[in-house]
Amino acid sequence: MFDAEINRALAAAVDLLNTAEGQHSAKPSPDDLTSIEALRKFVAARDKGLGWTSSGADRDEVDRVRDLRRTVASIWTAEEGQAPTEKLNSLLEGVGTRVVPAAEGSGTESSYRAAPIPVSGRPADVMTASIAHALQFLVVQGETGRMRTCKGADCDAAIVDLTRNRSKLFCDFGNCANRAHVRAYRARQAALRQASKQGGGASTKKAATSEAAAEEKPARSKPSSAEKAAELEEPTSVSSVAAKEFRDRMRDDLMEKRDKKDKKSKKKGKKKSKK
Ligand SMILES: [Zn+2]
Repeated sequence: MFDAEINRALAAAVDLLNTAEGQHSAKPSPDDLTSIEALRKFVAARDKGLGWTSSGADRDEVDRVRDLRRTVASIWTAEEGQAPTEKLNSLLEGVGTRVVPAAEGSGTESSYRAAPIPVSGRPADVMTASIAHALQFLVVQGETGRMRTCKGADCDAAIVDLTRNRSKLFCDFGNCANRAHVRAYRARQAALRQASKQGGGASTKKAATSEAAAEEKPARSKPSSAEKAAELEEPTSVSSVAAKEFRDRMRDDLMEKRDKKDKKSKKKGKKKSKK
């Protein structure tokens, strides 16, 4: 989406965030950055193009990288349009910029790109420079909406949306996308059943409203599963509404066919067992 270096740094920032303790696709994920050895492993597994290093890693560096993770997390989860510039500027302090030739096929129109100069060659400083450089790029370009949290239920994995049409909603840790689609399908089926029963009387309407009221909770930083599901169900632009309706219809048709198939095979099974 952006130039290769920004894309790499954003992907690495996500990887760093996801080393924190949390839920990944409904499975608990422990803190993965608690020792010098863990920091070495983490750096070794990242894209070599980042130029990250673990040479000279000690306990102090582990703590500094953990601090970086905390700061990046607070920037990542900030409301869109309310960039925590103070935190970002603290990461950028002392980080310089140099102009280097852009690699061929890096997806940018310019022959040059800006590259960060870290405060020092220490692991945490090198990581800070590339992540801070990429984050300031997103903020300045008005692209902070690309810093996201997975929309899957019971998942707080960080994701970065590098798609052109801003369509990435789910992480790649498990089956968050599938689980969300199945949930949405079941909710629609339940709503249809409810509507066909007595054509939706006043009592059911009342019940639904009080249920909705009960679900309303005080504001908090992380969206609940219900909020995530609601957001998924509410596409914003006209074209995405049309696209979503089409997808929903296709999915419902498919699910219906599957259901019928299941029932048929069950019936067959019963007949056979009777014989
Ligand atoms: Zn997820």
